[in-house]
Amino acid sequence: MKMERTLSIIKPNAALDNNIGNIVKRFEGENLRIAAMKLTVLSKEKAEGFYIEHKERPFFGELVSFMTSGPVVLIVLEGENAVEKNREIMGATNPAEAAENTLRKLYAKSIGENAVHGSDSLASADREINYFFDKNEVFSRF
Ligand code: GDP
Repeated sequence: MKMERTLSIIKPNAALDNNIGNIVKRFEGENLRIAAMKLTVLSKEKAEGFYIEHKERPFFGELVSFMTSGPVVLIVLEGENAVEKNREIMGATNPAEAAENTLRKLYAKSIGENAVHGSDSLASADREINYFFDKNEVFSRF
C-alpha cells in the first residue's frame, strides 16, 4: 500500500454543530494521521479559487456562500491509501445516498451542507494541500 496525503475540510455546518472533535477522532481511529490542521474562516476569493472547477455549476454561488458562512477546519491527512480511504469515510455527496456510519450520513444536513470535503484524486489532493498550506506547515512522516 502506498502512503498518501489528502485534504479534508470540516465544513461550517459540522464545525458549528460541535462535531470537529468527532470527525478528527474518526480520522485518527481509521489510521489517518493529522499532518497539518487549521481552523479558519474562508474569504470569498479563497473559496471561489478552491472550487474553481465548479464555477459554471448552478450551485456555485450557494456553495461559496455556505463555505464562507462560518469556520472551517482545513486538515492534511496522511496514511495508507489516504485519498480513497477518506472518500469512503465521508460517504456520498448527497447524505440521503450516503452509507450508514459515514461522516456525511452522521453529520450532513443536505447535499450542500454536507459536513466534509475530501480530495477526489492524488492530483487534486496535491493541488488542494498546496492551496491552503505552506510546505513547512505540513509534518510528513514519510
Ligand atoms: P464531493 O466531491 O462529494 O464533495 O462532490 P462534488 O465535487 O460533486 O461537489 C462539491 C461540493 O459542491 C459538494 O460537496 C457540495 O457541498 C456542493 N454541491 C454539490 N452538488 C450540489 C447541489 O446540487 N446543490 C448545492 N447547494 N451544493 C452542491
